[in-house]
Amino acid sequence: MTKITVAKGDGIGPEIMDATLEIILEAGAKIEIEEIEVGEKVYLSGNTSGIATSSWDIIRRNKIFLKAPITTPQGGGYKSLNVTTRKFLGLYSNVRPCKSLHPFVKTKHPEMDIVIVRENEEDLYAGIEHQQTDEVVQCLKLISRPGCEKIVRYAFEYAKQQNRKKVTCFTKDNIMKQTDGLFHQVFDEIAKEYPEIENEHWIIDIGAAKMADTPEAFDVIVMPNLYGDILSDVAAQITGSVGLAGSANIGEECSMFEAIHGSAPRRAGQNIANPSGLLQGAIMMLNHIGQTDVAEKVQNAWLKTLEDGIHTYDIFKEGTSKQKVGTKEFAKAVISNLGKKPTILKPVSYANNSALNLPKYKRKPSAKKVLVGVDIFIHWTATNPNELAEKVKTILTSGIELSMITNRGIKVWPDGFSETFCTDHWRCRFKPVEGSEISNAKIIELLNNALNVNLDTIKTENLYSFDGKSAYSLGQGQ
Ligand code: NAD
Repeated sequence: MTKITVAKGDGIGPEIMDATLEIILEAGAKIEIEEIEVGEKVYLSGNTSGIATSSWDIIRRNKIFLKAPITTPQGGGYKSLNVTTRKFLGLYSNVRPCKSLHPFVKTKHPEMDIVIVRENEEDLYAGIEHQQTDEVVQCLKLISRPGCEKIVRYAFEYAKQQNRKKVTCFTKDNIMKQTDGLFHQVFDEIAKEYPEIENEHWIIDIGAAKMADTPEAFDVIVMPNLYGDILSDVAAQITGSVGLAGSANIGEECSMFEAIHGSAPRRAGQNIANPSGLLQGAIMMLNHIGQTDVAEKVQNAWLKTLEDGIHTYDIFKEGTSKQKVGTKEFAKAVISNLGKKPTILKPVSYANNSALNLPKYKRKPSAKKVLVGVDIFIHWTATNPNELAEKVKTILTSGIELSMITNRGIKVWPDGFSETFCTDHWRCRFKPVEGSEISNAKIIELLNNALNVNLDTIKTENLYSFDGKSAYSLGQGQ
């Protein structure tokens, strides 16, 4: 018997959770349920995190969490509970299988069978955002080596366990050479440890186009958080409905299982929602807790039900479907098929499908880190970069020179183009002159001098080399 935490969520959440639990319990799931309240009611009672402290205690104690979708109220500083849960509990891996159910569910892609492995904790979802000038706001994209290693290793181990042939990596490292560049580099390093699995890298834009057009070209695809968020919805939708896909959020200690879709408030309370996405999440949960026989039984009954043409409204099509049913009736149909297998769709076998046991991340020895310059960002409302350069030159300290000014990343001094549009947000790059060095003390001197001439410095970024390799991007056009 495994104790699990259950949250019924908002909108269609309670209906699809009741259907899911009924099916898996009928199938013989050995689970004890502890229910907690999360979401809209908790938010609107004045708790901006959407969950009570006592509920965290329950989630952490039980370690396995089956969660229905919740509604995050718009505006008003409410924090997404999904993002918080994933990060608080270290659920670094988000696994989203998307397989077409042709010819029973209408899709343009009859042979599609892909699994998106989405990094789940970092990237732009670090949520570190600031307004710095009247005209410019920023969001920090954080990518870490442990984050990359953990998710890429998870993707390869998953492929190995599931007997899949290829792992593809999607990034945009032709533009983001440091962040996406690290993800790609770690992918290449780890791929070498799995010579039996094919590996490849695609630039995300053309990769996404290819996935939407020819998904059968892919098998497992691993990618940073934001790309994975967007492309897993695309992948689920092109199998037939976003209501069909489930998601496993896996950490070293805890894990959370859910549907990939939201709470669909317009469909709530009408007994029409498709419970399949959450059911798929629950099946992944049963595999994870070692109840693979029950998982297999439920999945085969579900496939048989779809094959019988018993469909909820979202996948119902005259001609291919036989009977349009509501949430409860769909659950009853799956229950009546327990023990049966599909005849045309391939039945599943989950004999070796339990939780993956990955090695813990080991920190690497530190590299030799040398300060080689500094970028000082300035809020300045005039538009001529040459004027700014003259002013900035007055704050220089001995052995330091102004090497470049950029605006939104493009070089505007020296030798900028008059056509380049400039905002009020300027980056001034300072480097030591030949034969000199820069230090934190010199950076403070620069800032102090800037204060004395009324330059509004909004932030600094130190430029480093690691083991002799420069570790920052050049200005565009530099
Ligand atoms: P949504 O996924 O809830 O619904 C979009 C549309 O997809 C629905 O109107 C419906 O037509 C269809 N759909 C989704 N699930 C379905 C199902 N099971 N059966 C049949 N049709 C289904 O997206 P949204 O409308 O953008 O978001 C609604 C709320 O859900 C928002 O408050 C959002 O923050 C939240 N949300 C929660 C989660 C989560 O809890 N994991 C994820 C995404 C969105």
